[in-house]
Amino acid sequence: LQLRQLMSDADEITVNKADKTLPTSLSKETILECFSQGRIFNYYQPQFDFKTGLMTGVEALVRMDHPDYGRLSPDQFLDQVNASGLMNDLFETVLDKAVKAIAKLSPTLNLSVNICQSNLQHQIADRVIDICKKYHFSTSRLTLELTESDVYNNSITSLANLARLRMHGIGLSIDDFGTGYASLNQLSKLPFTELKVDRSFVSDIIYNYKHQQLTKMSLSLAQSLGMHCVIEGVEDAETWEYLKPMGAETCQGYYTSPPLSISALQDFYQRNREHELVASDGDDDVN
Ligand code: C2E
Ligand code: MG
Ligand code: MG
Ligand code: MG
Repeated sequence: LQLRQLMSDADEITVNKADKTLPTSLSKETILECFSQGRIFNYYQPQFDFKTGLMTGVEALVRMDHPDYGRLSPDQFLDQVNASGLMNDLFETVLDKAVKAIAKLSPTLNLSVNICQSNLQHQIADRVIDICKKYHFSTSRLTLELTESDVYNNSITSLANLARLRMHGIGLSIDDFGTGYASLNQLSKLPFTELKVDRSFVSDIIYNYKHQQLTKMSLSLAQSLGMHCVIEGVEDAETWEYLKPMGAETCQGYYTSPPLSISALQDFYQRNREHELVASDGDDDVN
């Protein structure tokens, strides 16, 4: 029911303006225009604790409203942003908006933001720390996600950024785990604190024996290395129930909530808070 109520706010069903085919290339000028007109903004997908069922955080997911083609998903524009040399502007825009919004929304929710290797080639650690300071947002509430296929890079700048971010209490997550090629050696040496099992293993886990085993293996790897474990792409109650006893801490997927606009997130969070208060009142009565 919750999901259906929210679907009108969710972007998964947003239809691109008119019926135009998507642009094959986005010029740097158009991207800059989108930045300056606020056409690049965030959606937020809630994350939940498997054990308590409570909302614990959100992942910021970038969106672009193209003047001619309407809403674009990151897969449709990130390569062009990168090719235009604007990946750092994008990262800082996404991070600034996200930290500002979540600091205002809640004193406790965690925030995850995606990052890529080209961001780590600049001195970004200090920028990240500055943005957290600017909004009085504790660095321990922030996690940066790097996709597994992007983990490998032994440039001094990249390693120094990761170390510095970690030193300041910022979490580091390996996104889409199982689809890239992080070696066990890297897992043991790099300062990652979280592992996110890719949704391709989760979508058919109920009846795919190999995906069941690979997910179990990823969870036990994460646990033995002391890493937090997130399962992404949980789309239905059966999958939630199947995964719950497996020991991952956090769940993210359409079952609990699709990515939401900031105003839809505010409503969603508020309703969750009320639900939480009612539930804890109930406990008091029993005790
Ligand atoms: P991701 O970080 O793995 O994000 C999860 C993606 O899975 C999101 O797609 C989300 O909408 C989708 N998703 C969430 N739950 C479900 C589910 O239950 N079922 C299915 N089928 N899909 C689900 P989205 O928003 O299109 O993002 C795609 C990718 O773009 C992200 O994958 C991330 O790698 C990248 N991305 C997004 N925002 C940023 C950003 O600000 N910076 C960078 N560098 N990359 C970003
Ligand atoms: Mg991610
Ligand atoms: Mg992912
Ligand atoms: Mg992904």
